[in-house]
Amino acid sequence: MGCCDAPGLMPIEEALSKMLTPIKPITDIIERSLPEALGFVLAEDLRSPMNVPPFDNSAMDGYAVRIADLEQSTTLPLAGKSFAGQPFEGIWPETTCIRIMTGAKIPTGCDAVIMQENTQVNGNAITFNQDHIKHNMNIRPTGDDIEQGNVVLAQGARLTARDIPMIATLGFSHIKVFRKPKVAFFSTGDELRPLGSQLQDGQIYDSNRYGIKPLIDNFGCEAIDLGIVPDCQETLRNTFISAQQEADVVITSGGVSVGEADYTKDILEELGQIGFWKLAIKPGKPFAFGELDHAWFCGLPGNPVSAVLTMYVLVQPLIAKLAGHTQWKAPESIPTITKTAFKKGPGRTDYQRGVYSIVDGKFEVESTGNQSSGAFRSMSLANCFVVLEQDRGNVSVGETVQIQLLNSTLY
Ligand code: AMP
Ligand code: MG
Repeated sequence: MGCCDAPGLMPIEEALSKMLTPIKPITDIIERSLPEALGFVLAEDLRSPMNVPPFDNSAMDGYAVRIADLEQSTTLPLAGKSFAGQPFEGIWPETTCIRIMTGAKIPTGCDAVIMQENTQVNGNAITFNQDHIKHNMNIRPTGDDIEQGNVVLAQGARLTARDIPMIATLGFSHIKVFRKPKVAFFSTGDELRPLGSQLQDGQIYDSNRYGIKPLIDNFGCEAIDLGIVPDCQETLRNTFISAQQEADVVITSGGVSVGEADYTKDILEELGQIGFWKLAIKPGKPFAFGELDHAWFCGLPGNPVSAVLTMYVLVQPLIAKLAGHTQWKAPESIPTITKTAFKKGPGRTDYQRGVYSIVDGKFEVESTGNQSSGAFRSMSLANCFVVLEQDRGNVSVGETVQIQLLNSTLY
């Protein structure tokens, strides 16, 4: 056995493949009004029923002309107007021009719009100073943005704040989406107290539910908060039984280690099946995955950094598959130069927390400091994960590492 083997620990790639293989995407289809469809996954290809724009229209405030008329005279009298929503409807006499506004329908026969900045107005006579008049200048042609019949979004796309207005341009008030996965979650531990309560000796506040819930929301699921459950086999068993009845996934935090009050794994064995437990990942080694009668199970480690990190790395792809979000992609890895050293022993893939910056066009990263799995400040300070490969040892300043960005852009 080499220095890099980690006996009993499953490499993360293997764990991911074991988790994802049996997951069947949710197929229940519901209809949502467009504003309420944000974050849902499209249940069918969305084809455009129309051209966008639906008619040739002006990209500028100015004057609609026929280029041939301008070749005869650069001053043309006004023959009418075409405003947005109020097209020109008369007959357009030769060697005249039409006042036109942005978004207004292009009058038949017009082959250029001259922006008003390039004209001089003298009563009813417009003089054009535009050089090099190009055919169809400042005209947005029918279907230029979206052509009728084209698929604008494929089944399996998760709707973002950028997709919703695009769908609105097509006039859909309601669309078909898959129902969101329901994810029940609870914290386990006798030491945990709810926020706002007075801590007794040996107690801490339950912070994990506040790390897990926003991620469940963010991954596009319905979160069911089952609170804090003490380290009591009976209560745990009952919570498991009711959780799996209302959820597609049950997530717990704590109690999956080898301590004497770590009952979660025993109950999973009793009520379902363990897929795997103990991964070659740091932090997050005691992550358990399994199957209950009616739900998938993810047992997150209790340490707050480990709980949130395993949500990102392991639970997120599981949920994407379950949600039918076929276009989900794991975060890109970006090669980055280290500005600080990173302590690391071979054996586990290490997700350290870092702060990246871009200096002279190049990515640089430094550590957030204390990398203990209980020190959540390292997560709060971070804007990226520094992903150090399983076999890698200590990293010195100036080495290249892979980072994954945390601050995602507009959702
Ligand atoms: P466990 O996995 O239950 O052995 O817990 C590992 C560490 O995480 C212990 O220090 C726990 O007190 C802590 N911990 C467990 N659950 C939570 C929680 N919900 N919030 C904050 N810390 C926790
Ligand atoms: Mg515990």
